[in-house]
Amino acid sequence: MEWDYDVIIVGGGGAGLAAALMAHKEGASCMIIEADGKLGGATAQSGGVFYACGTSVQRAAGIANDTPDDLYDYLMTLNRWKLRPDIIRYYADNCGAALEWLIELGSEFPKEWLVKSGVDTVPRGHSSQGAGSGIADALINAAGARGIDTALGTRVEALLFEDGRVVGVRAMGTELRAPTVIVTTGGFGNNPEMLQRLYPSACHGEWTWAVHKDVPFVLGDGITLAEKIGAGVVGLDTGLVLATSGFSKSLEAFLPPWIIAVNKEGRRFMSELSPYSVCGYLLNEQTDRRAWAIFDEQALVEASANTRYLDPYNAGISIPTWEEPTLREQVKKGRVKVADSLVALAAQVGIDGLALEQTVARYNTDCDAGGDFQFFKKAPAYFPIRKGPFYAVEIRAAIIGLTAAGLDIDRHARVLDGHQRPIPGLYAAGEVLGCFHGERYGGGGLSIGNAVVLGRLAGSEAGKAALAARKAEEVAA
Ligand SMILES: Cc1cc2nc3c(=O)[nH]c(=O)nc-3n(C[C@H](O)[C@H](O)[C@H](O)COP(=O)(O)OP(=O)(O)OC[C@H]3O[C@@H](n4cnc5c(N)ncnc54)[C@H](O)[C@@H]3O)c2cc1C
Repeated sequence: MEWDYDVIIVGGGGAGLAAALMAHKEGASCMIIEADGKLGGATAQSGGVFYACGTSVQRAAGIANDTPDDLYDYLMTLNRWKLRPDIIRYYADNCGAALEWLIELGSEFPKEWLVKSGVDTVPRGHSSQGAGSGIADALINAAGARGIDTALGTRVEALLFEDGRVVGVRAMGTELRAPTVIVTTGGFGNNPEMLQRLYPSACHGEWTWAVHKDVPFVLGDGITLAEKIGAGVVGLDTGLVLATSGFSKSLEAFLPPWIIAVNKEGRRFMSELSPYSVCGYLLNEQTDRRAWAIFDEQALVEASANTRYLDPYNAGISIPTWEEPTLREQVKKGRVKVADSLVALAAQVGIDGLALEQTVARYNTDCDAGGDFQFFKKAPAYFPIRKGPFYAVEIRAAIIGLTAAGLDIDRHARVLDGHQRPIPGLYAAGEVLGCFHGERYGGGGLSIGNAVVLGRLAGSEAGKAALAARKAEEVAA
């Protein structure tokens, strides 16, 4: 058969670039096809946190004994063992080497920026200098240095499927043939129909938007293309959702420490400083999938100016959502409710007023004693809610941080069909997968981690398989 390349990579974000580099290293000729006018995808736009253990950065920060076993146990336990042990084991064993590889390619992860990005006990969130572009640029430069072919502004519209195997792609009416194709098209956060089908619990009407909004082709193409040739879809209704006031489409990954969040029953249900791997899920589990941030005038005036809580991972996030001018403006628009008593406030937003009074009384007692002895929120200062006017802001988990439904792969990154059989010639990695994250996102950095670690795997495996297929054809000829 006539081949144009050994490996075609569909999507030039973090997973696609990592895959291309590894396939090329195996000796395979590669072509990256990218729908957008530039490489990098969501990876380049991201906060650039990479989740890994056993790294030189951790050792430099004095963390000498974080092992793959520890990381594996944490992720499996957090998801009550409802994760794929083979894939998580692979990730645990290879994430450290993947991070060192990024450092060799030029990414920088300052030891001072290591963060606990999940609900584990060890800092494993490696924040990249330059955020996501610090990682993407290193990969793009390396691909350029290796002379890997790229076609930009070219949206792949079909996988070529002949005699039971994938043999290439069609893009803009042109066919390109290769013995292996790697699908790395990212998630589907910008595709409302797909969200309804594969991630319905994240859909809150107009409130819903994805952090990928500036990455136009995060539309789930890879899932759709692979489904058409029989690929199975797993991980339904999983992903990461972030809390938002709904005031604007600005990234708000964290709530301010000086509010309390109460549900329709008038009760607190979490520490308001919960990491985002906890907060959005808990919010979505409340009655009517929403809650209200409650505070008083003193907190609004005195506390809201301190915005340090916004950016614990040094991703450059700075937005004025919870600052006094914004909140006053939203009062005028009716989005922030105001009342002179807690019971009147509760009536306005439809929550249990007597329970709210009780919740606030308990919180105030804790604040007077210098802490939060119900949910153990570690706030820099505690603001009791004592003197009106009182305020309520509706909050929902409606910002999509990532989608985690998608393609299934085996331990060699081969895409599986609906019967768990590998589809010959087809590989996948990154946010297009549905078999990686499980019900609970383990922590900031696991999505870029998935892209780079499993992208590298897919590239090596597809590269080797393509060369073996070519050799077999030569022998047969
Ligand atoms: C603002 C923001 C902050 C984030 N912060 C973090 C973080 O700090 N840490 C973390 O782990 N995760 C973070 N994430 C999530 C993470 O960035 C992504 O999940 C991850 O980078 C996905 O990598 P990927 O290679 O799978 O997909 P992408 O990087 O999105 O690349 C997919 C590429 O495929 C292209 N494509 C799509 N369809 C086609 C088609 N039909 N033909 C050709 N090309 C196509 C797209 O244009 C895109 O370039 C963040 C995401 C965003 C948007």
